[in-house]
Amino acid sequence: MKETTKLYNIFALKCPRCYQGNLFTNPGLFVFKSILKMPERCPHCNQDFRIEPGFYSASLWISYPIILILFVPMIFAGFVIKEAYSISIESLLAVFIIICFALQIPIMRISRALLLHFTIHYVGSGNK
Ligand SMILES: [Zn+2]
Repeated sequence: MKETTKLYNIFALKCPRCYQGNLFTNPGLFVFKSILKMPERCPHCNQDFRIEPGFYSASLWISYPIILILFVPMIFAGFVIKEAYSISIESLLAVFIIICFALQIPIMRISRALLLHFTIHYVGSGNK
């Protein structure tokens, strides 16, 4: 994926305005510390990340369709796997729960990045 595309920068958790600065103080999708801690401003272009009070509560509504898009096909795939390989529903449920926990933090972070990318448009990396 090209580094100049919006989609790439959403998954790379980059600033929507300059595509350079990190959205989170602890960058990366799979982290276990400072999960939702964000700098007040972009370290590269000085874009304010605190748009308004309670702004990021809207990311809950963005994570909801992401979860549906990921988990509904997974449930159907689970039933197909169960029938094809005669695996017990309990072991499939255990795998499903592990996947849910593993994807929780990336989905929360991508939802925040999506919300910011919907709100703030790309200007370029040269503008301070
Ligand atoms: Zn920036």
